[in-house]
Amino acid sequence: MSSSRICVAVRKRPCDADKDIVTAQSPQCIVNEPKVKYDLTPYTERHNFVFDEVLDEKVGNREVYNRCCRPLIDTLFSNGNATCFAYGQTGSGKTHTMLGHDAEPGLYACAAKDIFTRCKAQNQEVFASFYEIYGRKMFDLLNERAKLVAREDADKVINICGLSEHAVASVDELFNIINKGSAYRAAGMTSANAESSRSHAVLQMEVHEKGSSKTIGRISFIDLAGNERGADTFDCDRKTRMEGAEINKSLLALKECIRALGVGKAHVPFRGSVLTEVLRDSFLGNSRTTMIATISPTSAHCENTLNTLRYTQRVK
Ligand code: ADP
Ligand code: MG
Repeated sequence: MSSSRICVAVRKRPCDADKDIVTAQSPQCIVNEPKVKYDLTPYTERHNFVFDEVLDEKVGNREVYNRCCRPLIDTLFSNGNATCFAYGQTGSGKTHTMLGHDAEPGLYACAAKDIFTRCKAQNQEVFASFYEIYGRKMFDLLNERAKLVAREDADKVINICGLSEHAVASVDELFNIINKGSAYRAAGMTSANAESSRSHAVLQMEVHEKGSSKTIGRISFIDLAGNERGADTFDCDRKTRMEGAEINKSLLALKECIRALGVGKAHVPFRGSVLTEVLRDSFLGNSRTTMIATISPTSAHCENTLNTLRYTQRVK
């Protein structure tokens, strides 16, 4: 990971032998650090991209953490705001990267382990929050999906009113609440998996001096809504289209904000979406941001993959 404030990484997931069809005519997405070379069928259309980190299908979550996320922990412990996004189409590996599973814990667990070790040595404590942004609404995943509202206080700091904060002292304790919270993600919908991909999930960990309400630093992990276009969702009713429009809007706003910060622009368009509005403080002051774009290796997804690569390239 470079020492700059913004790190942009691309991660290609392995082929799924059951679902992915790969033939000689399939587009070739070759990742070779720091480049991604994407040749589309029948290889007449060529695209080249360069990123800070390029992770091929052999790279596991632990290495993704070490290369893209570990430096964020230093920011967190030096009065800073650290943020890590997973961006990509549904099925490309965002949740695998963030949450992972028992055999391959994701970034949440890798970061939590390092955070708890440092906190114990320094007499500090950790508070976790977990919420989702669905359309223009926010819900507390650790409080029965209670509705949340964002308000700006007198110091122009955005607060999410009513967001519950949970003291956690170990990775196990954190996962107890994350697992419960994940079950609430876009709950009450027909297909849990399809619907959870339409919301942004935000996990925050805040470090405090023991017994003090003063925050030392904060890290936020955002498992973003799928970036695929509305046309890819088979039941394209009005609600789905509205959701799609809101997702596009928030992802565009996010790109504009990170870009503006990267080039040091005075005006950062935070007000463009709920997502960027509530994350505003995460980008200011001593802040550091990583964006991991996840891509699928299959030809069926080549249009989305190209969109993901283009979007991520423009973040920097
Ligand atoms: P998303 O959250 O972007 O919709 P998921 O993380 O749910 O996608 O991934 C879709 C499927 O692919 C899951 O079954 C997941 O376990 C698998 N998968 C994704 N990325 C990887 C990876 N790097 N290594 C192994 N399996 C992966
Ligand atoms: Mg997911």
